[in-house]
Amino acid sequence: MIPRRIPLAGPGIAPPALFYGPADKRRGFVVDGVVTVCGAAYRVLGPDVPEGELVEVHPQSFGFLVSELVAMEAAATAAAEQHRANEEAARRVRADRDRAESEAANAALGFAFAWQAAIRTVASGMSPRGAGNGLHARSVVHVRCDEPVSVGRLRRSQGDLLCGAGDGAMGYLAEAVSRDGSGEPYRDRVTCRACQAVALRLAT
Ligand SMILES: [Zn+2]
Repeated sequence: MIPRRIPLAGPGIAPPALFYGPADKRRGFVVDGVVTVCGAAYRVLGPDVPEGELVEVHPQSFGFLVSELVAMEAAATAAAEQHRANEEAARRVRADRDRAESEAANAALGFAFAWQAAIRTVASGMSPRGAGNGLHARSVVHVRCDEPVSVGRLRRSQGDLLCGAGDGAMGYLAEAVSRDGSGEPYRDRVTCRACQAVALRLAT
């Protein structure tokens, strides 16, 4: 939406305030077909500009209807608002899809014991590869046993990683959770191949 450009007849040299002044000083009401701003009179040449209409005068002897400028700003704001809403909706859809995919992949591992998704961190709470929040897009997601687990000669205590990585207290663990489109946390998809393999052995 572009406001109509209204031709005006004004003084040969526009008053300096029209160049530099704030918008409200450059606006005047049409009285008897004339807008007076910054001490200069501008005759409205364009058609259908009603008496009493507020006009923003530009030094090159044209003007805009303030009502149209306001409508244009409102339309731009509404469009930006709509854009943000669309982006947020798309983000929620992606987050819900990520949750569904993660849950399906984890369900395929057939867990029959209590567990959490976990990544290893160093003492600072940072991921070894560093992302600042302790998580990293490429962090390997392990299975942390929330109860003792055994299969064959393999024994895991509560709090151990199912794959055995990190035995010997060489690292700390952080829960690997993401949030779905409603902000609800869920366990990240297990990506550690060794954890996956043990989980599948336990499941059969
Ligand atoms: Zn693992």
